[in-house]
Amino acid sequence: MFNKVLIANRGEIALRVQRACKEMGIQTVAVHSEADTEAMHVLMADESVCIGPHRSSESYLNITAIMAAAEITDAQAIHPGYGFLAENSEFAEITKASGLIFIGPRPDVIRLLGDKVRARAAMIEANVPVVPGSDGVVIDEQMALLSARKIGYPVIIKAVGGGGGRGMKVVHSDAALISAYTVAKNEALQFFKNGDVYIEKFLKNPRHIEIQVMADQHGNSVHLGERDCSLQRRHQKLLEEAPSPRVTPQEREHLGTLAAKAALAVGYTGAGTFEFLQDAKGDFYFIEVNTRIQVEHPVTEMVTGIDLVKEQIRVAAGQPLSFSQEEVVITGHAIECRINAEHPEDFTPSPGRLTRYHPPGGGGVRVDSAAYEGYQIPPYYDSMIGKLIVHGKDREEAIARMLRALDEYVIQGIFTSIPLHQRIIRDGAFKTGQYDLNFLEHFLKVVNKKT
Ligand code: ADP
Repeated sequence: MFNKVLIANRGEIALRVQRACKEMGIQTVAVHSEADTEAMHVLMADESVCIGPHRSSESYLNITAIMAAAEITDAQAIHPGYGFLAENSEFAEITKASGLIFIGPRPDVIRLLGDKVRARAAMIEANVPVVPGSDGVVIDEQMALLSARKIGYPVIIKAVGGGGGRGMKVVHSDAALISAYTVAKNEALQFFKNGDVYIEKFLKNPRHIEIQVMADQHGNSVHLGERDCSLQRRHQKLLEEAPSPRVTPQEREHLGTLAAKAALAVGYTGAGTFEFLQDAKGDFYFIEVNTRIQVEHPVTEMVTGIDLVKEQIRVAAGQPLSFSQEEVVITGHAIECRINAEHPEDFTPSPGRLTRYHPPGGGGVRVDSAAYEGYQIPPYYDSMIGKLIVHGKDREEAIARMLRALDEYVIQGIFTSIPLHQRIIRDGAFKTGQYDLNFLEHFLKVVNKKT
């Protein structure tokens, strides 16, 4: 096992990884920007290294500075968390070339799955159903038109190198297609430095269901059930739950086995997420693989009792998974609310000093956050300041517990997404579990009309 791990991230996920390391007797190295000297992940680490100015491009995305920090602190492995460099195959490659271990899949696997067209092809090969779409990259306007007509409107144009819900365009007719295609290509080039796009059928009222997979270097690949992440605003997840209120045990078994097998087929190692859309008829279609630990991983941990980050570290160190498929048992229900520093009405960021901060506690409550009273939230990074996760014996208890915990959460000095979560969870459609990807946008329209 490693003696020392460098965590190339900030915020709650840096802290999450530190916690796993500490429980495993591993020393931790934090890296940070000049804006983060007072950040919790820096205060809690065994060692810390400043890697650059506040701008992410010069600090948390600065591969040279991160590698230098790893070298001077003698770290043996790097955990990338999520976001920043987590799905950057070049970073994984450089880490390996420097004689360190990247806690994640192999660079070639990250590259394969990070290319959505190649990932789709690999899934088709592995017998995983994919959303009907174009035959690979759409190379010109003519092909765009032919593909869209063949698939049937509405369609969605997506960037091959896309991520973070950005740069997708929904198109309803031939008339709108060409300009949307041109805009999508330009945006893809701007955001992802790769102008290639492809076209998929745009599913109406689907649910976002994702399967957590864990695979080791010894040929073991297991799934840990699904998470329902259908509560999204502008393709950004806001609340997640496990298990999904609508997935049956048979569907779970079927989809999970498919994903675990597909992971093996592409040589996947570590924690990975296979994302699917479930259409109104109940059929599942693959959309993408996330080759990192996900923000919403705690809901899976709560219902399985398995520590995914420790497992990632074990797998990277060459150890076999500590559990088998038979040992994965889903118990009760878990819900996660993302606590964002933003105005609940218009979602604009609300950075600033936390004048009061008191997280909730009690049975079945977990708070993953790097916030503390007096902490000044810098305006430069993601607005998510923490995650509130609850576990209950069933969905009803989890809902009651979440409402109780949200009520207990004291955050003063900034605006947060807490009031929005309280409204959503009290809504009838959420309570019955009958919500899909369009629920939140619709809900917000109704709420805004009333106020
Ligand atoms: P990203 O990598 O940017 O997160 P994804 O392919 O995972 O992109 O899609 C993100 C979200 O976009 C999905 O959760 C869903 O809300 C929506 N979406 C993606 N593909 C489709 C589709 N074919 N039909 C309907 N919605 C889609």
